[in-house]
Formats: sequence, C-alpha cells, structure tokens
Amino acid sequence: MRRILIAEGDAVRRWGGSQCLEERCRRHLRHSRTRNKEWQDMHHRQKLPIIVGGTNYYIESILWNVLINSGQGSESEKGVASESKTELEKLGGPELHRWLKEVDPDMAAILHPHDARKIARSLQVFMDTGVPHSCLLEEQRGQDGGGCLGGPLRFQNPCIFWLHCKTNALDERLDKRVDQMLSLGLIDELKDFHQRFNEKKIKENSQDYQHGIFQSIGFKEFHEYLTASENISQEERDKLKIKGIESLKQVTRRYARKQNKWVRNRFLKRPASNVPPVYCLDVTDVTNWETTVLTPALEILDCIQKGEQPSVQPIRADGLDPRNKRSHHMCDHCDKVIIGDLEWTAHQKSKNHLYQVRKRRKAEQASDQGPNTTEHKNVSDRQVPVL
Ligand SMILES: [Zn+2]
Repeated sequence: MRRILIAEGDAVRRWGGSQCLEERCRRHLRHSRTRNKEWQDMHHRQKLPIIVGGTNYYIESILWNVLINSGQGSESEKGVASESKTELEKLGGPELHRWLKEVDPDMAAILHPHDARKIARSLQVFMDTGVPHSCLLEEQRGQDGGGCLGGPLRFQNPCIFWLHCKTNALDERLDKRVDQMLSLGLIDELKDFHQRFNEKKIKENSQDYQHGIFQSIGFKEFHEYLTASENISQEERDKLKIKGIESLKQVTRRYARKQNKWVRNRFLKRPASNVPPVYCLDVTDVTNWETTVLTPALEILDCIQKGEQPSVQPIRADGLDPRNKRSHHMCDHCDKVIIGDLEWTAHQKSKNHLYQVRKRRKAEQASDQGPNTTEHKNVSDRQVPVL
C-alpha cells in the first residue's frame, strides 16, 4: 500500500489560527520550485501526496509544468520579479504598450493598452529571456501533452476532489471560521505585525496592501482600526473593530466564491487532455461524512490507482458538454465530414448548411405531396459537398 502524505497547499490567504503569522510569512517566501521538487520526490518514493486547500496559482503550478505563466505568476515567483515589474508599471500602460508593440507585436495585439500589469509582465519576460512572451507561450502550448491551460501535467493521473457546499451553509461556516480566528487571537497578531512591519510604512505613506503578506485577508480590512488615533474613545475603537470584522467576513465569502469560480473556469469549462478530472463531493451536510464524502472519495481514488474507471463520473460545467476536438461528424445534408465538436456546432449554424436543410425539407414536402420521386432524387443528386 502506498503511504499517504497530506500537506496544506495554502500559501498566503488564510490563517490556521494557532500558527504564528511570521511562520506563515516564512513559508510563503519559500520558493515554489523547492516545494514542487518535494512533491516530485514524494511521487518517486511511491507516496501519494494529497494537497489540501491552496491558492489557485499554487495549485496550478503543482498540476502543470508551466514554463512561463501568462502574467498571473505564483505568489512566490512574483516576489522575485515584482520589484522591477512594479517599476515598469509606474511608466503607465500606453507608454509600455508602445514598447511592447516593438518587441512583441503579437502580445501587444491581445493586451489592452491600459493593462499596465500584464504589459509589464510581458516586457519583463522579454527582458529576462530575450524571447518575445508570445513565442514562449506558443512554444509551451505546442509541447507534447500541452493544452489550453499551458504546459503538460506534472504528474500522472492527478485527481481533484471538489468539496462543494450549498451557499448558505458555506457562508455560515466561513463566518464561524472568522469568529474562530478572532478567538484564537487574530487581532493581537495583526496588531503585533502591524507595529513591527507596517507602522513605519504607513507614516511614509508607502504601505502596500497589494503585495506579499500584506495582501493576506485581514490587513486591509483592519486598516482603520489598526491606524486609529490614540485619542478616540473606546466606543469608537470598538466600532472600527466591528467594522473590520464585518468586512473580513465579507471578503472571506467573496474569496470562497472566487475559488469556486476558479474551479468552474479552469477545470470544468475547459476540458482538454491535460485537465485532471474533478469529482464533486457534497459537504453541505457533514453529519454522515463517512458515507457521503469519505467512502466515495476512497472508492474513486482506489479505481484511479488501479487504472480503472470509477463508477462515479467526473463533473463538467452545467450545460457544457465535454468537447472533443477530434470527433467526426457526418453531415448528411451537405455530404461532408466535420471534425471537432466546436466546428460541428458552427457548421450546423452555417449558411450553407441551413440552405441544404431547407432544400432537403422542400424536396421532402414535394415528395410527400406527389408520387413524383424522380424530382426528389434529382434534388438529392444535385447536392454538392460544401467547402
Ligand atoms: Zn451540413
């Protein structure tokens, strides 16, 4: 039996509570490559890594061998390059866009001139590698096993369990978690961290809630409370604290919705050969955890490890069929073979096809009305393949 190792994929967004914030910081700063190497080693030692939670970018960097990402790099990758990128961004979108047009017109064509962040990213890739960003992305897509999400899968047979929960129950749980974080001393941790690292920055007006640990949920929300003047009354102070707690709850809910959206957009709506299957486990009611969550998950895992097809189907986005790029469709009306589901859908709406359908219908009506089958046959014979 394979040994199982469970690790937390979280990099920055949440606090577990008891763990000191600084420790989280240090972990956040460790380079993702080192961590990916750890996963690789585990895999080689026949251990089954289970990654629980995690930020989107981090999970994607574990799943896919992404050579160059498309401007949304993992938190730690950002850390290294963010400084020069921030400098670039200061020049403003239009100016940067002019530069990019010169060195990488293909990339410039798909980026909005005001999207300074992405333009700066592409320029930086060009400066670091000497190769236009668009070429690198193209090369990456062309790799064996590559697909719409970038490079090929890093590990064989990965599998995603999406613990999904009805919105009301989720909101309630998230609120409870915030309360729990508070009772475990979140405010004191924030105060302490604020005094040591942020106070000076705020005085210099250089606080930055968009980067590093300061983008963690909590800092922005308690900004007013943490920076309140010493002269305000206790009542006012309490008000600011409650305001902070409320907005922390709100932001936590928003973040959870964003993560669900991410699962839908990145895994469910974009089926490709390099997208792992997603199995949905309903965790709205956890009173029967063993029968509703644990047992089905273990069965799926067992099947995948044996190379068998689990009896439960992986999920797809509502109303979206898995599209097959190589499926063959024969159009009887046009006497034509169409390859690919998308192309088939487009063909069925095309002018030529609709013309052939109308023609066929007329012919059939004519043949229903009279015994003159010769005319019908002639009509069919005249159908030529439409290119
Ligand atoms: Zn047709």
